[in-house]
Amino acid sequence: MSRARPAAFPEVLVAGGGLAGAATAIWLARGGRQVRVIERDLHPQHRICGEFLSWEAQALLADLGVDLAALGAVPIRHVRLVAGGRAVAAPLGFTGQSLTRHRLDAALLERAAAAGAEVVRGCQVRALEPDGALATSLGPMQADVTVVATGKHALRGAFRAHAGTLDHQLGFKSYFRLQPAMREALADHVELILFSGGYAGLQLVERQMANLCLLVSAERYRAAGGRFDSLLASLCAESAHLARRLEAALPLLDRPLAISRVPYGYVWRPGPDAPALRLPVGDQATVIPSFTGDGMGLSLHGARLAATAILSGQGAAAYGAALARDAAPAIARATLIQKLVGEGPVRQGRLVTLVRLVPGLLTLSARLTRLRPEAVRAAAAGPAARHRGYA
Ligand SMILES: Cc1cc2nc3c(=O)[nH]c(=O)nc-3n(C[C@H](O)[C@H](O)[C@H](O)COP(=O)(O)OP(=O)(O)OC[C@H]3O[C@@H](n4cnc5c(N)ncnc54)[C@H](O)[C@@H]3O)c2cc1C
Repeated sequence: MSRARPAAFPEVLVAGGGLAGAATAIWLARGGRQVRVIERDLHPQHRICGEFLSWEAQALLADLGVDLAALGAVPIRHVRLVAGGRAVAAPLGFTGQSLTRHRLDAALLERAAAAGAEVVRGCQVRALEPDGALATSLGPMQADVTVVATGKHALRGAFRAHAGTLDHQLGFKSYFRLQPAMREALADHVELILFSGGYAGLQLVERQMANLCLLVSAERYRAAGGRFDSLLASLCAESAHLARRLEAALPLLDRPLAISRVPYGYVWRPGPDAPALRLPVGDQATVIPSFTGDGMGLSLHGARLAATAILSGQGAAAYGAALARDAAPAIARATLIQKLVGEGPVRQGRLVTLVRLVPGLLTLSARLTRLRPEAVRAAAAGPAARHRGYA
């Protein structure tokens, strides 16, 4: 991996070397394209993410050559929904995996370099210019194809036309070392803990750390004085379950990671004049509500669709149509479910009662809010996969 100003013009520039950017680069490099990935951070970083890997994400990561077990991923087979004083658990219907983005993103960029992509770290992309060039902290860069994979927030000059349909929450994430009894109680589960103004996801990741990732309304955060520690104290006062889990737990980050205005519900749809050779991937293209635990699966699937469109010479229109076909229905359903459940204790309590009466509802909701297995398999037959003999 290099930091020096690269000399030659690559065929494809990928702005952003996170999950989606690295995956796109791997599939394109395997397809014989000369690819340069430009990543802002010089070293791997923690990311705001629940770090739950769905079966789709796992299948795509396996195709990308990422060995989750070797990286220390932790299996998860059950989901536990908690609201008020009540909890209900159900099998996920598949084995999820849990791994820090710090490890996963680093492994993917290493795979991209191993596949032949040029990885430039410590370089900030400042804008996508009208002619498709990238303005970067190392100067302008140009290629035949530009892929934008810079995550949730808009890059100047890039695609985001609206803010999504649910963007009023703030996100926080931190790691904790739980007491042994709580670690044992949490093992094999992802817990969704609902509270007034939002919800938290809690699960173990590698090295026996627990990932606490939460979304909360701006009002609730303001009511806690705009401080994470006060917010956490107020959530523990509301949820005896969360208080029990975090009792005497050791915070492992100096301060939590935070994010605002995540554009949930967003699906990129290219207009008739959209340039054929500029494509957004990952959260630049689709943003599904986090409770589904499938944002990474969708991002990887989109990356593969984009790579397929580029390798087969089809470009943005074909990619946009495939993305709308595969991703939009799950995103619309997940957004609707999040709006229906709402953020108030009455609806949340009813949800837990309902799920207790009909435990299959959790599994059904998981099925309705993710990619269809046929879509993942069909994309596996495309050129991005064929170049590796996957299909
Ligand atoms: C609160 C929350 C919880 C979530 N939980 C889960 C979960 O449990 N499971 C799941 O599957 N999904 C989850 N997601 C979704 C998942 O995190 C995203 O879908 C995924 O990270 C998208 O990957 P990406 O590569 O598009 O963006 P990112 O992962 O954000 O990567 C973007 C990359 O681009 C780089 N970059 C950004 N700007 C620039 C720039 N200007 N120049 C150069 N480089 C730049 C960044 O440094 C980064 O490496 C969650 C999301 C949120 C907000």
